[in-house]
Amino acid sequence: MTDDRLRMTPGPTEVPAAVRERMSEPTPNPDVEPDFFEFYRELTGKLEAIYGDDDDVVILGGEGILGLEAAIASLVEPGDRVLCIANGRYGEGFVDFVEMADGEAVVCDAEWREPLDLERIESHLADGEFDAATMVHCETPTGVLNDLEPVLELCDDHDVVSVVDAVSSLGGTSVPTDRIDICLGASQKCFSAPPGLTVASVSDRAWETIESFETASLYTDLEPWRDAADEEWFPYTHLSANLYGLDAAIDLLLEEGLESVFERHEEAATRCREQADDLGLSPYPDGANASPTVTALEVEGRAADLQRDLADEHDIVLATGLGDLEDDVLRIGHMGHNARVDRVERTMDALEAVLE
Ligand SMILES: *Cc1c(COP(=O)(O)O)cnc(C)c1O
Repeated sequence: MTDDRLRMTPGPTEVPAAVRERMSEPTPNPDVEPDFFEFYRELTGKLEAIYGDDDDVVILGGEGILGLEAAIASLVEPGDRVLCIANGRYGEGFVDFVEMADGEAVVCDAEWREPLDLERIESHLADGEFDAATMVHCETPTGVLNDLEPVLELCDDHDVVSVVDAVSSLGGTSVPTDRIDICLGASQKCFSAPPGLTVASVSDRAWETIESFETASLYTDLEPWRDAADEEWFPYTHLSANLYGLDAAIDLLLEEGLESVFERHEEAATRCREQADDLGLSPYPDGANASPTVTALEVEGRAADLQRDLADEHDIVLATGLGDLEDDVLRIGHMGHNARVDRVERTMDALEAVLE
C-alpha cells in the first residue's frame, strides 16, 4: 500500500518499511521459547549502546506513559519526598504519579518558555530532604530542550535519585545518561517504531531503592524486570511484534551511527527554523533552548485552522499545542525517521502555501 501522507508530528513518527516488515514475522511464544529470551537479551544490549552508559535497560510492554508511572511507582515509597522540576506539561505531570504512590511532591517550576531555574532547584535540594527528583529532557508540547547536566550534578551532590523523561529526545540528541538513575524512552518517538513499548535504564542506586520495598502494583513494578532475561521469566507475555519492530528500528540507528543521527536532527531543526523565520513565525522557546527533535511555532489562534488546511490540501499531518497553548502553537516533529531536510522543506513549503 502506498501512502503519500507525511506525518510530521512529534510522535508517533513515521515508521520505516524495514521496521513494519520485521513486525510481520511469525509470532513466537515469548514465555516458552529460549530463542526469544536470547533475542530480548540482544535487544537490551543494543539499547544499552543507545543509552551509552553501564546501567541495565529494561523494556516494558506499554506506551511511554507506562514508563513514567512505573518509574515512580517502583521508586517512591509512601511518605517519600520528591522534587518535581518542571517547565512544561510533562514535568508537571510527574506530580500526579508521585501522589498516586502516596509520596509528597514538591514542585519547582519555571516559565514554560524559559530554562530550568538552577538557583531555585539548588535551594530546594539544600533545604529539603528529598528522596528523588523528576525532570523532563525535551518538553514535547513546547519544543523546549532542558540542559540537565547541571541539574543532575546538583542531584548527585545531594544524593537524590534522578528520574528523567527523555521520551522525545533519546535517540535524537545526546542525553546525559551517565548521571541519570532512571532514564525513560519510548518506541514511537526518535526510534520510529510504532507506539507500544517503553524503555528504561536503571542504575544500581535506583535498583537498590526499588528492591527495598514492595511496589503496590504488578504492571508498574520494575523489580521483576531486573533479572527477567537471565531467569528467562517475563512478568507477562511480552509484545513480540513490537519488540521485533523496535529491534529493526534500533538496527537502523546503530547502522547509521548515533553521531550522524544527531547531526541529521540538528540539520532538520535548523532548516525548519530558517524557513519559519522566512515566514515571520517564531519558535515558542525563549532562546537557545529549542529542541533538535521538535519545533513549536507561535501562530496566535490559528493552529487548528493551519493543521486542517495542511491535512486537507497537502496531506501533511502536524500537531497543535496542548492545554492553554492548544490553538496558539503549531508543532512540527522532525524526529526519528522524519528528521530529514527534504521532509522539513516539504512541510514548510506547504505551511507557506496555506498561510497565503
Ligand atoms: C510522547 C511523550 C510521552 C509519552 O506520552 P504520550 O501518551 O505519547 O503523549 C511522555 N513524555 C514525553 C516528553 C513525550 O513527548
